[in-house]
Amino acid sequence: MAGEMRGAHAGVEPRESATGRAAGAPVAPRPRASTESAGACARWAPGSAILWRYRANTRHVPGLTDARAGFHICRPVTVVRDTPELLAVWLAPGTVCIKPVLADGTPLHRAPLAARYTRSRTTVRTTWQGTGVLKLALADEPWSVWLFWEPGWRFRNYYVNLEAPRTRWAGGVDSEDHFLDLSVRSDGTTELLDEDEFEAAQRAGLMGRAQRTQVRSALERARRAVAEWRPPFCDNWHRWRPQPDWPVPELPEDWDRAALAPERRSTALPPEPPRRPDPPPAPEAAPTTNAAGAEPDAQGTPFNIHPDRPQSAP
Ligand code: MG
Repeated sequence: MAGEMRGAHAGVEPRESATGRAAGAPVAPRPRASTESAGACARWAPGSAILWRYRANTRHVPGLTDARAGFHICRPVTVVRDTPELLAVWLAPGTVCIKPVLADGTPLHRAPLAARYTRSRTTVRTTWQGTGVLKLALADEPWSVWLFWEPGWRFRNYYVNLEAPRTRWAGGVDSEDHFLDLSVRSDGTTELLDEDEFEAAQRAGLMGRAQRTQVRSALERARRAVAEWRPPFCDNWHRWRPQPDWPVPELPEDWDRAALAPERRSTALPPEPPRRPDPPPAPEAAPTTNAAGAEPDAQGTPFNIHPDRPQSAP
């Protein structure tokens, strides 16, 4: 996939003046992906509306009956490209999503760290504000790569979200967040984020020693992918733009429905590609800031992008 953008979106030329759909833009009804149109192993056509969901990290903790025990994040997204190697989706501004909060309504990022993973939770609807997010997931890798832009399509940074390899089902993909994140600038430099949450989650019993080791290993694997500027970093996705006529996908009432007939897949990670002899970082302007994990700004711009706390409450 190196070089020019290929595939589903190749017909859309990069447009510096293009903008994502503004928050509050009309939401057009659209049939969502179904078992008829996209079986568990079928590919979704560009423009399809699917759900990108995260299970709560507590499903192995006995006795939990609140929202922590099910899906706690759900983001309706538009499929950009779906191949055996890569799933690319667009989270548009104005999309109604599901996010977790404490049972009293406190946003997670405002809860004390010691209580963030122990207090009872619920889920609320929230509207994705600010700029949209392009999410790229290489098949079976234990992370996804998100691209953020400033208003006006000034590229901000990549964001590697450590997570369980996604499970495909008829209506979308499911995963589980693994707390650690890696912010990646255009020059290839990185910043590890949310180690405090990673440690707190372990203290709260949400992640055992074996999983801790697996996530740390995945982090090193992701760092190698960045250091060698492998796909998707080298594929010019920062120049991608959404189709201007794509409607904002709707959040279905049964957003937390069980994933029927999930795709069977191996639990083994795919082999890492051979090291590239010459992995130059992308030659582009460095972002002005590295705001991954930052709090929303005064205008409410949602650059707080941890899946547990993706943005300010509307
Ligand atoms: Mg994360």
